[in-house]
Amino acid sequence: MPVTILFAARPERWVQYEAPLTEALAEAGIDAEIITGTDSPETVDYIVYAPNSDVQDFTPFTRCKAVLNLWAGVENIVGNTTLTQPLARMVDPALTQGMVEWCAGHVLRHHLGMDLHIHGQDGIWRAGIIPPLAAERVVTVLGLGELGAAVAQALAGLGFDVRGWSRRPREVAGVACFAGADGLDAALTGAGIVVLLLPLTPATENVLNADRMALLAPGAAIVNPGRGPLIDDEALIAALDSGQLSHATLDVFRTEPLPPEHPFWAHPKVTVTPHIASETRASTASCVIAENVRRGEAGEPFLYLVARDAGY
Ligand code: NDP
Repeated sequence: MPVTILFAARPERWVQYEAPLTEALAEAGIDAEIITGTDSPETVDYIVYAPNSDVQDFTPFTRCKAVLNLWAGVENIVGNTTLTQPLARMVDPALTQGMVEWCAGHVLRHHLGMDLHIHGQDGIWRAGIIPPLAAERVVTVLGLGELGAAVAQALAGLGFDVRGWSRRPREVAGVACFAGADGLDAALTGAGIVVLLLPLTPATENVLNADRMALLAPGAAIVNPGRGPLIDDEALIAALDSGQLSHATLDVFRTEPLPPEHPFWAHPKVTVTPHIASETRASTASCVIAENVRRGEAGEPFLYLVARDAGY
């Protein structure tokens, strides 16, 4: 009998995933029937899931062996009390590479002061401004998971003086690693650029607040592709207005899409990008999903399970 997989995501996602997911399941040797809706939830074996889908009550899915999230972030599903099945999140090599490229680009923009020349096309020959080399710039990456560790390593490869911070002690080649609440101030003190790649949990909300911004090097820049609530927005605007911070590149926000009247849009020291730092790519993500279905059918442990108590 085929394995029944419910693809519970917006219709435009199905357009992207139908062919690669079908192919990846076949290559993994899974006889699968993929459905995009059902009146018989008790017959579903796996749910491929986007937290913005219509499925919010998991109680009727009595046979479901796992919920396989299409997103890396799980803050919108991890607290769902109807979800008793194992929850796996998305770890996708293409998503990681995309995040490395986006972060490297924005870090280099701030490091090199590119805006001065991009926006300063005004006939003034601004020669003689020598930026520090990467080795003289401390870049702190908050979060050393799948994405943060890869970003930190890539930045270290470019020569930056990279620090990283995680909940539990980590070792990342070329990166000075700090951990736990006690390690945060040391990781931030004197940093010239901060990249936030933490998940949103009760412990990480407002982690970058006024006190912590005050620890950074004067004129530091913030790059946030993590989640909006990691930063205290009012403290951020105050620090930008006072000159304590020079710029914030923000990809994620407390409310998305960011409302047109939000002060971030018009702020000269804020760059808004519309949650595009890195996308899950259907071709590679389908292989991750198929591998987890294969594991479920073989009785092997699932990959990338979410630690429900830790919230990520
Ligand atoms: P991981 O779960 O692999 O890594 C999370 C990291 O954060 C780990 O190093 C973890 O510590 C650390 N962390 C969690 N809680 C704390 C805490 N309380 N104190 C200190 N460190 C903490 O996640 P990913 O790297 O895969 O993704 C990170 C986030 O990036 C996602 O949750 C999502 O919000 C965001 N994202 C944004 C995208 C975009 O396009 N803008 C795309 C994809 C993801 P430890 O190592 O000890 O577990």
